[in-house]
Amino acid sequence: MLQIKIHRGAHTIGGTCIEVQSGNSRIILDLGLPLMGKGGTEIEEESLLNPSIANGILPNIEGLYKDQDKSVAAVLISHSHIDHYGLLNYLHPSIPVYMSNGSLAMVEVGKVFYPEKNKIYASNIQTFDHWKRFEIGPFKITSYLADHSGFDASSFLIEAEGKKIFYTGDFRGHGRKSKVLDILTAKPIQSVDCLLMEGTTLGGNHNVGFNTEDAVEDKLNEIFLKQKDTSFVMASGSNVDRLVSIYKAALRNKKTLVLDLYTYYVLEQLKTITPSLPPHKNDNVKILYLKGHADAIAENIGKDTLYSYMNRKIGVDEIVANRENMVLKLPISGMRKVAAKLIKQHPLNQAKFIFSMWSGYLAKDSCYNDFCEKYKTELQTVHVSGHAYLSDLKRLTEALKPKKLIPIHTLTGDDFDKYFDNVVRIEDGEDLSI
Ligand SMILES: [Zn+2]
Ligand SMILES: [Zn+2]
Repeated sequence: MLQIKIHRGAHTIGGTCIEVQSGNSRIILDLGLPLMGKGGTEIEEESLLNPSIANGILPNIEGLYKDQDKSVAAVLISHSHIDHYGLLNYLHPSIPVYMSNGSLAMVEVGKVFYPEKNKIYASNIQTFDHWKRFEIGPFKITSYLADHSGFDASSFLIEAEGKKIFYTGDFRGHGRKSKVLDILTAKPIQSVDCLLMEGTTLGGNHNVGFNTEDAVEDKLNEIFLKQKDTSFVMASGSNVDRLVSIYKAALRNKKTLVLDLYTYYVLEQLKTITPSLPPHKNDNVKILYLKGHADAIAENIGKDTLYSYMNRKIGVDEIVANRENMVLKLPISGMRKVAAKLIKQHPLNQAKFIFSMWSGYLAKDSCYNDFCEKYKTELQTVHVSGHAYLSDLKRLTEALKPKKLIPIHTLTGDDFDKYFDNVVRIEDGEDLSI
């Protein structure tokens, strides 16, 4: 009998963990650190720092963890966001962990720059290629490249006992890889018994007026075209689609794009997987060396890497001297450092502060508004979600026509049956036979 159990995700966004069982064989899909409690409640920092089954941070799974007798066959990671892989350090060391090459590259980057608690030291990581079936015990697994703000993300098709389960992971249909959803819906997998589908955006709060990553790039282009003073761009260094949008828009307007070492290092690493990614030879990318990042590289990789980037190094004085041509994609600490020098020359009231991340972060942390207030800089939000909107969720369900559709990675799973057919709602910890 083929069974699934959601350990976490039926009523929450992030911390996803699903168990699939056939006979005595069990695999785990994602082992994420929770971002919130059930229904969006807050989790105490103390519990997150000391995850255990007792405090509910580690899903209660037999044979998965270091101090247990191993009985889980493998863990599959859909992508390199910590809400999907952040608990791997507690895993039994001989259980293999499968992820894409891009996900592994991002996990490795995390080992250089992330705070100790977010570094992942899983010892037995295996990589797979998308669309190439592989086997783990009775399970036949195929990764489908997913369009998501996490690089090289996977959706998984899991076949066993003549049944098919499709787990979307986190996905969308409006990013730079929107084509993969077009292909999946144009030539859908037939006879899907169970679709586990994320529904992050369904509660609202994820749309800030842009519908696609292309629209984000167009807006950035428009801003840089009219630029009269430095543009500050606040974006995630791991959102590669967004980095490409910023890069292209800056390049089109002959601006100098200044990156921090973390962001530059991310792009350098991922270029080995996707050579078309920036940076490119003789382009306009410069690097501002900030102490924290430089120390992380010196300590964890070696100073040679810092020397090898020297030809792109830029100093604050050089930025100030060319201020109207600068696009700065830096952490807020770096922006403050540059802004302090810029205002000595003249005020920043012509500069733009482009907030290019989820608006929830803007509400949570006052540092962005404080910056704009202090320097009289106009804040503009230019962002599109990393997660599918309703139209693409519908497009997928209508193509795959699953016999059972199970909501996951959502706060509004109870609303799924308003929009989709064959919704089966299961609680965290509940078994479901497929
Ligand atoms: Zn997620
Ligand atoms: Zn994600």
